[in-house]
Amino acid sequence: MGRPVEVAIDLPRLELDRPFTYLLPDDATAPVGSVVSVPFHGRTVHGWVLGATQDVPSRVLPVRRVLSKEPVFDERALGLFAWMRERYVVPLSVAIDRAVPPRVASEEGGSSPAPPEPGGPPPEVLGRYEEGGRLLTACHGSGGGVFVVRPLPEDEAAVCVEAVQATVAGGRDAVVVIPEVDPLPRAASAVLEAAGSAGVLFAGGDRRARYRTWLEILRGRYRVVVGTRPAVFSLVRRPGLVWVHREAHAVHREERTPAYHPREVALARAELERAVCVLAGLSPSAHAAAMADDRAAVLVRTPRERERAAAPLVETTKPADEDRSTRLGTMLRSARGAFLLVSRRGYGTARICRACGEPARCAVCHGPIVVRERREVCAVCGAGGRCAACGAADFGVERGGTERIEEWARGVTKLPVRRVDDGAAAGPEPGEVVVGTAAAVKDLGPRSIGLVGILDADRARRRAGLEAPEQVLATWFEAAAWAGPRAEGGRVLVQTREPGDPAVQALVRWDPLHFHRRERARREEAGFAPGVPLFRVLGSPQLEEALRALEPAHLLATPLGDQAVCLVAIRPDALAAFRERILGLVGERVVERVEAEPRL
Ligand SMILES: [Zn+2]
Ligand SMILES: [Zn+2]
Repeated sequence: MGRPVEVAIDLPRLELDRPFTYLLPDDATAPVGSVVSVPFHGRTVHGWVLGATQDVPSRVLPVRRVLSKEPVFDERALGLFAWMRERYVVPLSVAIDRAVPPRVASEEGGSSPAPPEPGGPPPEVLGRYEEGGRLLTACHGSGGGVFVVRPLPEDEAAVCVEAVQATVAGGRDAVVVIPEVDPLPRAASAVLEAAGSAGVLFAGGDRRARYRTWLEILRGRYRVVVGTRPAVFSLVRRPGLVWVHREAHAVHREERTPAYHPREVALARAELERAVCVLAGLSPSAHAAAMADDRAAVLVRTPRERERAAAPLVETTKPADEDRSTRLGTMLRSARGAFLLVSRRGYGTARICRACGEPARCAVCHGPIVVRERREVCAVCGAGGRCAACGAADFGVERGGTERIEEWARGVTKLPVRRVDDGAAAGPEPGEVVVGTAAAVKDLGPRSIGLVGILDADRARRRAGLEAPEQVLATWFEAAAWAGPRAEGGRVLVQTREPGDPAVQALVRWDPLHFHRRERARREEAGFAPGVPLFRVLGSPQLEEALRALEPAHLLATPLGDQAVCLVAIRPDALAAFRERILGLVGERVVERVEAEPRL
């Protein structure tokens, strides 16, 4: 007759988001995480076995087939998926689809040898950090906890390696999440080197390789997993540490639905699995800084004097035309090497049409026209620059951008000058001048090139987006660290008309927390406190009233034709109630769509 099991159906619809009971044939084995095909309203659909159940309805259908030769997740993952489902208001199937890479059936049913014991002496750096001993004890022991780690630039890889090795030595496994792999951050390569064949890079590769690695991790083949965003879901055997490297970095965030952030997943796993969560970076995110401020996280940093001694000397000056200044010219002329950070690519921006005098706009899409690689092109659609009003291609151009700064720098310094626009190329080495945007700022290991210029700080600071200020500041710290310690002549010049701005002052004082206290107050006043879940809900005109009844932390309603859009902030402890209510409102057709963490 068969055994009743609960199955999550792979249909991404909130109204179907509950387990369904099916009968598993007596001769079939299908542990938690097995992929099955089942009948559903006259169709055959895929689903995942969630476990045995006592809850058997009067009419129950049999599982058609067990598709996977081995489960694609295990029981421990259920807690994490349930958390995703509630946090991002998505069906369980969407949470599973996001965490588990697509199946490649031929990779299933294999076996993996037990991992070797990684050896080698760990670096000894954290002992010199305030609360560093506490972090090591937590990693080595059996408990959890949240730590915000602010390493010295020279220690950025070593602190990570040391924590990972303490975790492994204590009998647990570690996951290190990095923002990108091209190039591989220095911290990531150092961790992999130390782990030897007990470690794996879970990033990139083809579908087959990704799925194979996922299964190998699930089988317990590795003690240390390093990878980009999806690696945060790695089901290592005994999770002891989830480390998020450069956690304020813009590319950590998932852009597709659900727009999860590995920082939040890492925090959730730490709580669910009693693991240590580390949020690391030279300048923390607003969320991490707020947790440290509230003592919800332990701040790990060096004593202030060491921090300042390892930092470059930062000064400010007013920018002149084309994002340059006399001071910059003077410093560049005598620099032994430099990195010049500019927020705009290209050579300049077309302002007016010389033929008809109208403001310059793309004839195809009315977008702005910029000059790149000596060509006038539309910044939006990429069409050749033609005036929308008269079709002419002759513009008055305001110069400024990486290409213009590159050209200018060649006339100032005798050092070789290089431009990095796309970020794949390696960063500055001593003895050269590199001009680049934020895309060029990567974890390349410590360097001491001499001079770092932040050329258009005000424009960068004014970038739109709720999280833009914290990301801009993190980029500044990461770039500024390349200058090297002040004792070795490390100098940073920030060109700004507002030297008193908190972000600029944070850099001058080499203290990001100074900025974050101000930023937090600003965010709280606007109703969007750091770390408070945010949703965009689309629905009928009754939506606002329905959501207000939930007493959200904040609500902004905008009418949109005969519909309404609400931006709503929900305190973490009210998420379960919010989800319930949304599901009810979906049934009543008041809610049409919910999007967690919209890009603001
Ligand atoms: Zn265009
Ligand atoms: Zn014209």
